[in-house]
Amino acid sequence: GGGRTPLIAGNWKMNLDHLQAVAFVQKLHWTLKDAAHEDGSVEVAVFPPFTDIRTVQTLLDADKIPFALGAQDLSTKDAGAYTGEVSGAFLAKLSARYVIIGHSERREYHHEGDEIVAEKVQAALRHGLVPVICVGETAADLEEFGAAAVPVGQLEKALDGVPADADIVVAYEPVWAIGSGQAATPQQAQDVCAKLREVIGQKLGADAAERTRVLYGGSVKSGNIASFMREPDVDGALVGGASLLVDEFAAIIRYQK
Ligand code: PEP
Repeated sequence: GGGRTPLIAGNWKMNLDHLQAVAFVQKLHWTLKDAAHEDGSVEVAVFPPFTDIRTVQTLLDADKIPFALGAQDLSTKDAGAYTGEVSGAFLAKLSARYVIIGHSERREYHHEGDEIVAEKVQAALRHGLVPVICVGETAADLEEFGAAAVPVGQLEKALDGVPADADIVVAYEPVWAIGSGQAATPQQAQDVCAKLREVIGQKLGADAAERTRVLYGGSVKSGNIASFMREPDVDGALVGGASLLVDEFAAIIRYQK
């Protein structure tokens, strides 16, 4: 909605090694040869595991494939004695444009709370990466507080100290909808995405609220993408499972047809 360029983002999670990644990206590009994303009317981004990023970057460059590249996480730190961590500086050098922050799987399995999420947002911005800030309520939250309260609170904290001109993306991902096959309704997604846009307005100002893309994520497929994209405050999708299937993901990118 709102004249913002839609963003279709594929979060591969821990799937596709670097060789499988090459085959997948080539096939997807081939499938999309004639599609709207080639004229820039829809932006496509892929989020491979860290070990694939260099390989995928080389392929995108060599074949002039117009997908943006993103990472699934980054360190709060820039360099140093932090075994196993990957810094935003390294990701920026590989031409990664985006980085997912605060995905519900990181919040749940790695105990990342709102403070870590806020630090990671700062780390991304320090290195010129666009944070894709994920927020969303669990099924228990939904029952206790309704849909919007938890994601609104999460986003308020993630945006602390973020400058008004920062380039960010927000993804509303109800935890109960992720990988469950049970997507939110377009109206539910619209309601929360509109509230998240209000938060952006309160924290960063009206220009940021107008400019920033707010995505929906959670069991998006080719059969429901168009209904989400019709909503005025939904500017794209963060896609997990369906982003690993060439024909499904291509059909999602071509949702207008
Ligand atoms: C996700 O994990 O970001 C996601 C939206 O997953 P799925 O599309 O599989 O529900």
